[in-house]
Amino acid sequence: METDRVLGVSPSYIYFPISLRRVLQQKEGGKVNQDCIFCRIIAGEIESDILYQDDEVFAIRDIRPQAPTHLLIITKIHIPSLVEVNAEQKGLLGHMIHVANELAREQGVAESGYRLVVNTGPHSGQLVAHLHLHLLGGRILGRLG
Ligand code: 5GP
Ligand code: ZN
Repeated sequence: METDRVLGVSPSYIYFPISLRRVLQQKEGGKVNQDCIFCRIIAGEIESDILYQDDEVFAIRDIRPQAPTHLLIITKIHIPSLVEVNAEQKGLLGHMIHVANELAREQGVAESGYRLVVNTGPHSGQLVAHLHLHLLGGRILGRLG
């Protein structure tokens, strides 16, 4: 518990030493995760146009767009997937959706409609193991579910 307070990370990371190491690297501005594309983008190691950023998230265009508007809203902290978001981090999820809504307005798809997607784990086809929200719009997307 003392470790929690000192490090400011959730107990779940205590059980995932690799994730813990990554969180500490991000928090302390230390070495960037060389095996994470999104960490490398936010560190400036891979070039990408950042459309929006604040202390918690940043947004870029998807490199392989599936719709005329296809943005990714990405956490600055390395969280491998939605399933690893803990209670202390839940506010981040609301913030991601709020930012997505603002970007949808800015991109002109708020009225026509859009879809937010969070692929989570192998069955979803999640490719990049760093929490991100897809914002898709600009065409009729077809039904899901
Ligand atoms: P996932 O399948 O993990 O939900 O989605 C990852 C997304 O990241 C994919 O849609 C993929 O096209 C996108 N992506 C992968 N590498 C890069 C990159 O280097 N730059 C950008 N902008 N998008 C990327
Ligand atoms: Zn990462």
